[in-house]
Amino acid sequence: MKRPIAISDSANFYVSAERIFDPSLKNTPVIVLSNNDGCAVARSDEAKVLGIKMGAPLHQLSTVIQRHGVRVFSSNYTLYGDISRRVVEVYQDFSPTVEIYSIDECFMDFSGFKDREAHARKMRQTVLRKIGVPVRVGIASSKTLAKCANDIAKKNSLFDGVLDMMDEQLADWLLGQIKSWQLLEFIRQQTYVTCLSNKHDLWGLLFWKRLF
Ligand SMILES: [Mg+2]
Repeated sequence: MKRPIAISDSANFYVSAERIFDPSLKNTPVIVLSNNDGCAVARSDEAKVLGIKMGAPLHQLSTVIQRHGVRVFSSNYTLYGDISRRVVEVYQDFSPTVEIYSIDECFMDFSGFKDREAHARKMRQTVLRKIGVPVRVGIASSKTLAKCANDIAKKNSLFDGVLDMMDEQLADWLLGQIKSWQLLEFIRQQTYVTCLSNKHDLWGLLFWKRLF
């Protein structure tokens, strides 16, 4: 049997790192700027909803920043490196093999765990409790598929941050759905601010629209 590979990545990592030390940043649009404060390199979900794009130059954002009270930070790579190391230490309690892939992503061997999803959920809760950073976990039989699982978990609140895609039939079916999910995510973003307050509202809307 193929080895289950997990990839865990932090949501909006630089923003999540800033939020650890300033609770007033929760549920608020936040962006973190590149080295020279030139452009946005990390955005909270609330900032994404406002249409702030990755790499958007700061000088083009003054209106949206003022109008919506967007909180703006210079990047602090010492802080992000420190948080990253602490997150990896938690991962090491959950897998014997942790391979750092980027500042906020690690691959892990999840072989030998009976209930991989429960294991991933426990890891996720532990990172949140100990470090304060939300992470999402995708599990599959290859690194590429694990990354896809992670992406699906990230874009669909249904999965609550964890997707185990080891079952090949499930993997085939889920990968076939990606296009329609992209459409659903688009709808969610369009309606997010005005009428959707939680995921139950979202699913209600989707059933009503016969989209799912
Ligand atoms: Mg990330």
